[in-house]
Amino acid sequence: MNTTVWMNELSWVDYQSRVQRDQPPVLLPVGALEQHGPHLPLGTDGLLSSAVAADTAALVGGLVAPTLSYGYKSQPKCGGGQHFCGTTSVDAATLVGQVRDAVREFARHGLTKLVIVNGHYENQWFLIEGIDLGLRDAKAADPLNQLQVMRLEYWDFMTPDTLGDVFPDGFPGFALEHAAVLETSMMLHYHPHLVRMDLLPDDGPADFPPYDMYPPRTDWVPASGVLSSAKGSDAAKGRLLAVEVARRMAEAITTGFTRPTGV
Ligand code: ZN
Ligand code: MN
Repeated sequence: MNTTVWMNELSWVDYQSRVQRDQPPVLLPVGALEQHGPHLPLGTDGLLSSAVAADTAALVGGLVAPTLSYGYKSQPKCGGGQHFCGTTSVDAATLVGQVRDAVREFARHGLTKLVIVNGHYENQWFLIEGIDLGLRDAKAADPLNQLQVMRLEYWDFMTPDTLGDVFPDGFPGFALEHAAVLETSMMLHYHPHLVRMDLLPDDGPADFPPYDMYPPRTDWVPASGVLSSAKGSDAAKGRLLAVEVARRMAEAITTGFTRPTGV
């Protein structure tokens, strides 16, 4: 039997028997195609969400579905904005539709546990909407379907203790961490050959006013696209974060799907 965690490497027959025999959790990573400074690849958000999903799946006997690799529009305060070459985003309705269709299809397969692993800040509410509509569709198609969906942002599984170790001078917050120490360190752990350490930017942290403007003010955003300094990134920090995230996501999947009896 094929023991890969990657769903797209299984035949439908192997997938079906895994689903029927084990009721494995299926993890669906979501990312974005978005500038991540001069030193990280455009696909960083999807590369990281799929890497932590794969580590987690290995711990819980789960499978990883192919990543949804285009995200909602990059916002200046958390992704730099839409004005960078290479940033390639979808409208909200497109992302909602992709997630809605995926949820409905996984329910049809007889899956009971779907975990949507978000790696791009701006996606969050559209994932929620896609899950809600997908579950509504699944219920209409088969009122007895048992699918439950867990949605998470992988960085929420980093503990204050670990963030304290990674940021001895103070943590700037996840929004400003775009292409900075967290993502760069995790990329150095998972995909070192994709990180240009010779181009590591030292901008920021960006100083945004407490409001947004439309069209966005591109002059609010550092020209590098990085919202706080990436100096201090290293693979050891990335490993610390990655191991903690996978371990705690696995715990969440193990405990989070159990329903009180009778519900
Ligand atoms: Zn990112
Ligand atoms: Mn992003």
